[in-house]
Amino acid sequence: MNRKFALLAALGFAVRAVPAMAVVINGHSYVPLADWARANGLKCNWLGSGDKIVATNRTTRLVFDVDARDAEINGVQVALSCPVANAQGTPLIAQLDLDTAIRPLLFPERYVAPRSIRTICLDPGHGGKDTGNRAGWHYEKVYTLALAAEVRDQLRKDGFNVLMTRTRDTYVDLPVRPALANRRGADLFVSLHFNATETGRNEVKGPETYCITPVGASSSNARGEGSEYGPTTGNRNESGSLLLAYQVQKSLVRSLAVEDRGVRRARFAVLRDAAMPAILVECGYMTHPVEGRKIYSDAYRHGLAQAIVRGILAYQRLTTPPGPPQPPATNHQAMK
Ligand SMILES: [Zn+2]
Repeated sequence: MNRKFALLAALGFAVRAVPAMAVVINGHSYVPLADWARANGLKCNWLGSGDKIVATNRTTRLVFDVDARDAEINGVQVALSCPVANAQGTPLIAQLDLDTAIRPLLFPERYVAPRSIRTICLDPGHGGKDTGNRAGWHYEKVYTLALAAEVRDQLRKDGFNVLMTRTRDTYVDLPVRPALANRRGADLFVSLHFNATETGRNEVKGPETYCITPVGASSSNARGEGSEYGPTTGNRNESGSLLLAYQVQKSLVRSLAVEDRGVRRARFAVLRDAAMPAILVECGYMTHPVEGRKIYSDAYRHGLAQAIVRGILAYQRLTTPPGPPQPPATNHQAMK
């Protein structure tokens, strides 16, 4: 047993051996954040007026809001499943969040199985009679298709096979979308959408990227359903989906300098049924007067597509299996 494992095992034993430390809040098991941080080489400190706690070392910075589900993981917002709690000055974090949000992002090599990415399924949201969101004369379905075509062209230049769940203004049932990706053996599934809000149209803006809600957790979308939901096909690739969502969200907020509305969790139909790492990107708010205008411009969507592709490439770098690169296609294959 190496030292790190010995330390983790010792910590696990200590938590179980001392009942006072094994706290259950709202049915979820919590552990002291500082103990987990120490075991992983991070130092914990309170920030500002004491409503935030930061865990850092040379390469990692985690910021948690006490009594809230917001965490910042190396500069990107990630919604937790359970709020961080403050037990008389001792911050506690849910074991579920350590297992399904923090660890897979800090140690992807331990959580995400290496897999070559050859085929990517793009899913332009809505279509046909389903217009998606509307802002004035603008229909979401038009811009999701335009963005997907842009992402497709850029991914093809990078050598990927790309499938589209629709290439025209047609209605496609929700279950058909992941089913196509599953049937054709896609390695990733990326659904593209634009957001809208009824209230706070002048304030609410920026992208948010969804991946499947962990089993036992409630979702962090606006109409988030409860924690009673059982495991879905999508939960088989939970860590891969989270890592992909994180890399795409990071790329969007870094390259477009937009507000970071974070990585979030939802049991959207397309995420529930996909048998590969799957995300749904809400690329911004059509209802925001400035962001909306940008969404309707070719130049901005080109930038959005570039950012999404860069996020996918970052995910690929983290999950490519070790070994020699794939041999080039033979002449015979190349001529087909
Ligand atoms: Zn949509």
